[in-house]
Amino acid sequence: MTGSGAQTRPTLSIVVPIWNEEAVIPELYRRVVAIMDQTGESWELVCVNDGSSDRSLELLLDLHARDPRVKVLDFSRNFGHQIAITAGTDFAQGDAVIVMDADLQDPPETVLRMIEQWRAGYEVVYARRISRLGETKFKLLTAGLFYRLLQRITDIHIPLDTGDFRLMDRRVVLAMRHLREQHRFMRGLSSWVGFRQIGIEYERAERFAGETKYPLRKMIKLATSAITGFSYVPLQLATYLGFGMATLSLLGILVTIILRLSGNNFFLGQATTLVSVLFLGGVQLIFLGIIGEYLGRIYDEVKGRPLYIVSRAYGFIPDESHAIPRSVILPAEPPNHAHVPHEKQAT
Ligand code: UDP
Ligand code: MG
Repeated sequence: MTGSGAQTRPTLSIVVPIWNEEAVIPELYRRVVAIMDQTGESWELVCVNDGSSDRSLELLLDLHARDPRVKVLDFSRNFGHQIAITAGTDFAQGDAVIVMDADLQDPPETVLRMIEQWRAGYEVVYARRISRLGETKFKLLTAGLFYRLLQRITDIHIPLDTGDFRLMDRRVVLAMRHLREQHRFMRGLSSWVGFRQIGIEYERAERFAGETKYPLRKMIKLATSAITGFSYVPLQLATYLGFGMATLSLLGILVTIILRLSGNNFFLGQATTLVSVLFLGGVQLIFLGIIGEYLGRIYDEVKGRPLYIVSRAYGFIPDESHAIPRSVILPAEPPNHAHVPHEKQAT
């Protein structure tokens, strides 16, 4: 860990996950400084470099050298958005921790309103988007459906249309540090811990520059983690469907027997048999797949691997965050070490 021992904990922390965001980093810094200086409080900007293959790390280290309030965690590879947020909140030392995206879709100006609610006594202030600019119709529709489905099949209350953009009191962050599951849906976890929560509304802006790091494949993965992480309903569906089908076929057996006994020359065609067998085969495979989704996640948990590996940390003072379970934080190395970007990965 670098940094002098004279440092104290800042009041506010901003946590930003960063994966190939060289196009937005200078503007991000400018906007964050402009807003945070208005609060009159001490603050830090915790940037988590999630294995960027562009110049992101170089830009971040440059900012860190000029402004020690900018702190950088450098992952050993790309671990994904939710894990990057986890690491950021593990290291953030503020009394309030604000998580936001690097692309300025979460307008830093909204942070001021979050801080107001925090000062009023709320411990989690989440931001609900009332509109989203610059998103495809498809994304809006699937996201809308997803949040409503999630609402129905989970026991905890996950507010509709909220992302990871939120403020959490230090007490919430300390509690969240005990939730170490691999497949994380952070906004679900932040509901799960409870505390006094409130939502504020905001308009989600367009991405400032660059392109989305969330293609359909990753959206599906996140949605699956959200559902499997917070609900057994998909597993229970098999039971319900099984009972339904068993009842139906029992009726079918009765009807067939009665028709036979009453002398009706009742004959089920081959096509009907084939179709029902194939249909049931399909249904069984689907549920096998659903069980597989849960099983794979159980396997990942059992392996107990760390959630992330921080290969280098810049600007943090040691505190209890360094005893975080399921994380690897490698010791500092001599200065003047050259920094080259990570290998490019497919999105
Ligand atoms: N991100 C990350 N690791 C990833 C994917 C994304 O750290 O594997 C970061 C990204 O740099 C951004 C945030 O997560 O700060 C949200 O990504 P993006 O804006 O592309 O998602 P969208 O807003 O399109 O859903
Ligand atoms: Mg975005």
